[in-house]
Amino acid sequence: MATQLHLLTLQSAQTGVLTSPEPDRYSLAPQTLAPCPIATNYFKLAMRYSTTYNRMMYLAKKKFSTWLAPHLKLTSTSDPEFTGKLLSLAEFILTNSPSSYKTPVLCIMRSDYMLDTSQSNPGPKLVEYNTIASSFGCLSTKLAKVHETVNETFALNQNIASNDATSLLVGGLSACCSQKGVIVMVVQPGERNLFDQGVIELEVMKRGRKIVRMSLDQISTHSTLDPASNVLTIRLDGSNVPVECVYFRAGYDPSDYKSEIDWEGRKKLELSTAIKCPDVFGQLFGAKKIQQILTIKEERDRLYEGEEESYKAQQNDIEKTWVKMWDLKEFDTIVQMVESASSSNTSFVLKPQREGGGNNVYGPDVLPHLKTLKPEERDGWVLMETIVAEKFDNTLVKEGKAAYDGVCSAEIGIFGVTCFDDEGNDRIQATEKNTQGYICRCKQEGVDEGGVAAGFAFLSSIRLV
Ligand code: ADP
Ligand code: MG
Ligand code: MG
Repeated sequence: MATQLHLLTLQSAQTGVLTSPEPDRYSLAPQTLAPCPIATNYFKLAMRYSTTYNRMMYLAKKKFSTWLAPHLKLTSTSDPEFTGKLLSLAEFILTNSPSSYKTPVLCIMRSDYMLDTSQSNPGPKLVEYNTIASSFGCLSTKLAKVHETVNETFALNQNIASNDATSLLVGGLSACCSQKGVIVMVVQPGERNLFDQGVIELEVMKRGRKIVRMSLDQISTHSTLDPASNVLTIRLDGSNVPVECVYFRAGYDPSDYKSEIDWEGRKKLELSTAIKCPDVFGQLFGAKKIQQILTIKEERDRLYEGEEESYKAQQNDIEKTWVKMWDLKEFDTIVQMVESASSSNTSFVLKPQREGGGNNVYGPDVLPHLKTLKPEERDGWVLMETIVAEKFDNTLVKEGKAAYDGVCSAEIGIFGVTCFDDEGNDRIQATEKNTQGYICRCKQEGVDEGGVAAGFAFLSSIRLV
């Protein structure tokens, strides 16, 4: 039976693959044999907050000068090459191009949770929210269908959570571009995650929209920004086509900016009237530093000042999904806390202002790493309590072979799509944005990191229990 399931899973998943730049070399996306069991009430709770951070992102952009920028000032000094450059770009746009600043922002948010089942404080706990380049929605949509097929074929009677992340993402992108314009998907040169992105391209085209893949340096050299109107155009099939939407699947890591040409490309996009997904303000809101700031009630209240009551009401609830976070200002106290925690069961994760996996420091490595940080580097990091996720059994499949069979844990990511204009009105229809879209990543017990592309986690689906 296990072998049959295995074969069926792999055969059906043939469309969902990662590839290297050479067309004849590709591999199956790492995946689990079976769905991951997730408590129904936890899943529903996480789902309820699918667009909460989207709204916060809108508010943070509105209060850029009084809230977002001041919170990132010290961090940008500690991380001048990335947070610093993004912050300068945001300041430049605000000062020099009010019309670009007022352009609506498409937000394809993915909030990631681990499910804590400890007696003291059970429930979904936020690992992070992602404002830029949240990936694997489309491969996860396919994999949920594969698991559903296995479920039906073998009458397993599993309640697999439906997943239509593809429609959610494609609906958002299509709503931000007319048939006369083009969506530019910003990608890394030599991108490997082609198939997850490819589904989006295909589905967007089915909705009658044009979409092209471009790297930041290509944008820099092969697009034209009209200085009077800030309309960005590219040459397509012999004519100049306006770029109406920019979807970032790159640009979240310093390595995406190899030279000033790439930063020039980014600036051109930010200056343009195209709807960005996200713009530089939204990307800055995604900083780990801001996630830590949000856990401070007074700062949250300042962000929500003047906001509609219906949004404010969620605040007390959402607090329950957070674990403790700290900055490193009271450095000696932090070191003491980490030192004394090694004798108890508490453990920590130390995070820099980076995305995409492979950057954090975990558990026993935190204390030695803290001690290597120079005072001027400390503001670039935040400390977070470790979430202890529920354990269950699964089989992890890599390159078509069972790589591990045993105790695992899961991290679920809930997609929420909005496009707030300057007045705070969302242009995405309720029917589009209320679609249920998620990813579920599974990893072997004892593995700290969680990225699929980074090689640590395996794509999965959710079996509600
Ligand atoms: P990134 O933006 O690089 O994905 P994350 O904050 O998501 O950064 O951290 C990467 C991975 O580290 C997560 O997918 C998760 O597996 C693990 N991780 C992060 N924070 C915690 C935490 N507080 N407790 C347990 N694991 C964590
Ligand atoms: Mg993450
Ligand atoms: Mg992230």
